[in-house]
Amino acid sequence: MAEKTAFEIARETLKQLTLRKLPPTPLNYQRIYSEVGEIPIEPPFPSERLQEISAALPTKTPGQQKQKGLLESAINQRNWDGVKTALMAYGGFSPAAAPERPAGAGIPLVDTPVSATRPMPLFDEAPVKTNAPALTVDFFGQLARLIEYASPAFGNDDAHFLEQSLALVKSLRDPATDAVTAKKMIAQYSQRLSFVAEDQAEIKLVLLKLLHLIIENISHLSVDDSWLKGQVDALMEVCVPPLTLRRLDDVEQRLKDVIFKQTEAKARTVQAQQEMRQMLATFIERLATMSASTGEFHAQLEASAKLIEQAKSIEEIAPVLKDVVGATRSMAKDSMSARDELQTMKKRAESTEAEIAKLHQELDRVSAQARHDPLTGALNRQGLDEAVNREVAKVKRQDTPLSVALLDIDNFKKLNDSLGHATGDVALTHLATVTREVMRPQDTLARYGGEEFVILMPDTALENGVEAMVRLQRELTKRFFLAGTEKVLITFSAGVAQLAPGETGPEAIKRADQAMYLAKRAGKNRVLAA
Ligand code: GH3
Ligand code: MG
Ligand code: MG
Repeated sequence: MAEKTAFEIARETLKQLTLRKLPPTPLNYQRIYSEVGEIPIEPPFPSERLQEISAALPTKTPGQQKQKGLLESAINQRNWDGVKTALMAYGGFSPAAAPERPAGAGIPLVDTPVSATRPMPLFDEAPVKTNAPALTVDFFGQLARLIEYASPAFGNDDAHFLEQSLALVKSLRDPATDAVTAKKMIAQYSQRLSFVAEDQAEIKLVLLKLLHLIIENISHLSVDDSWLKGQVDALMEVCVPPLTLRRLDDVEQRLKDVIFKQTEAKARTVQAQQEMRQMLATFIERLATMSASTGEFHAQLEASAKLIEQAKSIEEIAPVLKDVVGATRSMAKDSMSARDELQTMKKRAESTEAEIAKLHQELDRVSAQARHDPLTGALNRQGLDEAVNREVAKVKRQDTPLSVALLDIDNFKKLNDSLGHATGDVALTHLATVTREVMRPQDTLARYGGEEFVILMPDTALENGVEAMVRLQRELTKRFFLAGTEKVLITFSAGVAQLAPGETGPEAIKRADQAMYLAKRAGKNRVLAA
């Protein structure tokens, strides 16, 4: 058949459109034109869209720059194969591995809805996901499981880390997550993980050391049960979560003190017991000799009495009497020396007993008061000094802020006077309990004086330190304690100072004290920054 002219094809196309009752849209016209003229449709080359895509491509590496250049020149030349090769090379794929595009499938003939499935990022930074999506989904699933399995090993003290783990696992299981997002989340997660893992390792080390100390301690335990109780109490205190390095360190220090004194006391006790046993043995031996010599004395007296009975003259009695006097004298001598010896032994026993009692007292004092105030359980002045040194050294090492607060209970004397000293003591314990609950585990509470407390707040700038104290103040106004049936509320005045460069811990506490004094002057029940 002779080739139709363009005019004929156009006329026939219009006719067919009418016959087939098709609306005369450009697309329908093009389809019928192609059919009538037997001319394959050559879809328009989408230069503009491709140029938009090219402009959006990042060029971070020389390879990406090169492929972007090649892509642009392929677009300019309207070269599909060039575009395909440049894009695949840009994405890190070898063109041979890519599925063939079906002939004529470059641009869909009829408008079809955009695929409802997950869009595949063409130019991912992590090529694995685009390269093998099925494998990637599986890989992400495995990763999520790995994180879930490993999580218990890191404890659950770090709430932020827990949240991060859960979010990451959720994202990895979400098919809508692309590789770039996953990569970013994994990077953040692994950074935090490194800190958590470091902490866990250190906690384990310290725990192990503690265990050693306790076992060592138990092996040295003396008969006195109250000592054992002290140890167990300290251990119980530290076994309450969250387990922080600071608290473990604290108990380790306490136990070391007690063990040292206890070992000393025990050695002395053993020595004293040996001395007592020896004295007792000497005493019994002495008694035996005494009764033996008394027996001899009696026998001699009996014999002498018989001789005296049988004596017929005074001359016969005289030597007997001499014997009796001699025996009596030696008996008296024996008794005297026995009495002296016994008295010496008694004195030695008494002084040993006093020494042991003193050692026990000393031990009790050290056990209970090494670094803690026995009434409130807060650190005492010595404990505070050590904690301040530690925190100040940390500030210098890590360049983090440290705030210190000094608080003084308002009108405490009046409370003591009206409700009694014992209720005053309960108020102090109440304040310490509420403070421990409100402040963070890394904050340190110390009893500075009668009704004055110091709180060390590491990693805390002045403003946040003031906020924390105001929070404590509010909590105290909500929580009363009972004195009999009477509800008692306490308030305090406080000053807060942030450790300045070059400043010592005691200097910062002094500034906080001055601010506290101003808070009292300003009407009490308030917190002022130094
Ligand atoms: P302000 O509001 O100005 O601080 O007045 P205040 O009455 O609280 O202060 P002041 O320093 O006059 O009184 C403190 C009182 O705290 C005096 C002292 O008897 C009492 N105190 C100190 N240590 C203890 C303790 O361990 N137990 C009890 N119950 N009272 C104590
Ligand atoms: Mg005071
Ligand atoms: Mg006071």
